[in-house]
Amino acid sequence: MPNTVHIIGAGISGLAAAVRLTNANFAVHLHEATQQAGGRCRSYFDAATNLTIDNGNHLLLSGNRHALAYARSIGTEAGLVGPKRARFPFVDLSTGQRWQLDLGESRLPLWVFDQARRVPDTGLLDYLALMPLIWAAPGKLVGDAIPCRGSLYRRLVQPLLLAALNVDPPEGSAGLAGAVVRETLLAGGQACRPLIAREGLSAVLVEPAIKLLQDKGAGIRFGHELREFGISAGRIDELKFGDDTVAIGPDEAVVLAVPPRPAASLLPGLKTPTKFRAIVNAHFRFDPPAEMPPILGVVGGLIEWLFAFPQRLSVTISNADRLVEMPREQLAQAIWRDICKAGGVAGELPPWQIVRERRATFEATPEQNALRPGASTAQKNLFLAGDWTDTGLPATIEGSVRSGNRAADLVMAMRQA
Ligand SMILES: Cc1cc2nc3c(=O)[nH]c(=O)nc-3n(C[C@H](O)[C@H](O)[C@H](O)COP(=O)(O)OP(=O)(O)OC[C@H]3O[C@@H](n4cnc5c(N)ncnc54)[C@H](O)[C@@H]3O)c2cc1C
Repeated sequence: MPNTVHIIGAGISGLAAAVRLTNANFAVHLHEATQQAGGRCRSYFDAATNLTIDNGNHLLLSGNRHALAYARSIGTEAGLVGPKRARFPFVDLSTGQRWQLDLGESRLPLWVFDQARRVPDTGLLDYLALMPLIWAAPGKLVGDAIPCRGSLYRRLVQPLLLAALNVDPPEGSAGLAGAVVRETLLAGGQACRPLIAREGLSAVLVEPAIKLLQDKGAGIRFGHELREFGISAGRIDELKFGDDTVAIGPDEAVVLAVPPRPAASLLPGLKTPTKFRAIVNAHFRFDPPAEMPPILGVVGGLIEWLFAFPQRLSVTISNADRLVEMPREQLAQAIWRDICKAGGVAGELPPWQIVRERRATFEATPEQNALRPGASTAQKNLFLAGDWTDTGLPATIEGSVRSGNRAADLVMAMRQA
């Protein structure tokens, strides 16, 4: 019956666990290796653009109900902003064609029956051909479940699944893709409204959680990297941080919410994903024209999503291992050319920053998905959290929050046992 919990890692999964356990009156101690909370979901001041930017543009959908509940629990749900209706403007840079996908406000995907709201050049049968994805087995490839060609694929399925899985969709896990489709497209427009943290990821999803934890008396230590566990009689009895060691009493639990590589080195023998994919984000200091949509889907080019923020245009490129070694200036120029075409803007390359997260997400293939462990471990007072644990979802904020909640619930279940 633990009353004290040590949480290792202050990314979204660790924060979600910490908030849930603090609200359940546990004494929470949060240990973060770096000097900043947020992990792969954070903001920082960037001198090149003279702006506070996010490490990556993070898109949530209104169907991400655990992520939204987390934001609500830290008082910032209103900081996730988006249009009232699930409308997605798109441009095809190879043809210049522009269209708007209007998913409406329903709880059912009724838009597929309305030719005016469907993706251009698609018919009802194209949508029905996606059905095998919905309940696909985890070991199946997307490419074996649905046709990965044609207008519907190129203009909707490919951009959606590329963003969600961070792999080329045909090689992705159909099980994970199916979970995304069930919780978004299949749940109608009310689950597909795009939401972004307009004031920045840290301001909306991270700092308010830290403040709540501090206000409720949680202990938070930055620059406090866990180096080793002390394990005895099937439970964690020590946390070794290098300079100091924390003894874990009989009624205390530990949540390990670190990425797979540190988790595997802290727990030899733990099965974890071993392959990762990069995401590239580029930020340009530029005032977006008033008519520019906040989010524009781009196909047929290098960039995939163009975000318009106050004073800044930002792009996301997923599955971006091919761009990791490209000279930065050359990449910035190529991206800026795409932005000018897609966004209808012109001008010399403005001040820019490129953020390449090499291990942005685990590779969402069937092979790597099979390596994701559940939250329970061989040590009875140790639980795992993280977007890479077996959440049933790809590596997303929604998956992170679910994993943190799950680990917290298991800690609570120990208290009740
Ligand atoms: C560029 C980019 C774009 C993305 N876009 C989206 C998006 O549009 N939508 C979406 O939903 N998701 C997106 N994601 C995924 C999302 O950011 C992640 O799923 C989520 O942030 C993972 O959170 P986490 O807590 O599981 O892990 P992490 O954020 O990796 O947190 C782990 C924490 O543990 C700390 N740590 C590591 N080792 C130790 C140790 N030994 N001791 C103490 N602390 C330690 C780390 O410093 C880190 O703070 C994106 C990710 C990236 C990188």
